Amino acid sequence: MSNFILTVLGTASAVPIADRNPSAQVLNVHGRLFLIDCGEGTQQQFRRLHLSFLKVEAIFLSHIHGDHCLGIFGLLSTMSMYGRTKPLRIFAPRSFGPILKFYQSYFGADDTYQVEHVVLDAKEPQEILAEGELSVSAFPLRHKIECYGFGFTYRGNYAYAYCSDTAPFPELSTWVKGVKYLYHECTYTREHADKAVARYHSVTDDAARCALEAGAERLVIGHYSSRVRDLSQFQKECQETFPDTVAANDGDIFEIY
Ligand SMILES: [Zn+2]
Ligand SMILES: [Zn+2]
Repeated sequence: MSNFILTVLGTASAVPIADRNPSAQVLNVHGRLFLIDCGEGTQQQFRRLHLSFLKVEAIFLSHIHGDHCLGIFGLLSTMSMYGRTKPLRIFAPRSFGPILKFYQSYFGADDTYQVEHVVLDAKEPQEILAEGELSVSAFPLRHKIECYGFGFTYRGNYAYAYCSDTAPFPELSTWVKGVKYLYHECTYTREHADKAVARYHSVTDDAARCALEAGAERLVIGHYSSRVRDLSQFQKECQETFPDTVAANDGDIFEIY
């Protein structure tokens, strides 16, 4: 029985498409759920994948682009309809503050539980949560707007790192050094490298190089541009540098420990 399980809810980038939702992932740590990013459709994915809203202990939002946070209003509202009473922490950049206020003033005035916005503000990896066997750190990424990645250490092992939207930069592989499973965004294949540079995103080779330099055991990629329909191209290009690469689909489950 695994104690540390990753479920990928969404692997699309900017817009939802027929068979892909925007970014969201759930980590199940010993039955405690942690949500990472919350793109549109996240709550439907919870239902499809038989995950419980009420078991979510904390939410980590990498940045305030719609494909990573537009699902939050619906999710917060549904948690209240289900009578959640346990306070919920949302770790997010400062710019999430007014968004939460807007939600609370229009939709959440009668919510049954408290939400605490923990402001992310890190120039290098910084521990943001430490509870029992789990420690979570946040580290800055290089994107168009303020954006963070998250590292999850379980029982002293660097189990999982989530590298959301980012252009490649040299420090990143040292910040995720020794991680077992590395998720790295991979918006484009080589063919569209110019777009990746212009939009502060990564291509296959960037993700694969990061995994190689970090000495990761396995690389999981996602956040695919809807321009590229053939997923095998992403996987093939990554595997040239980092053989143990999996191009994730919505609903994929990885038993990390
Ligand atoms: Zn994105
Ligand atoms: Zn973004």
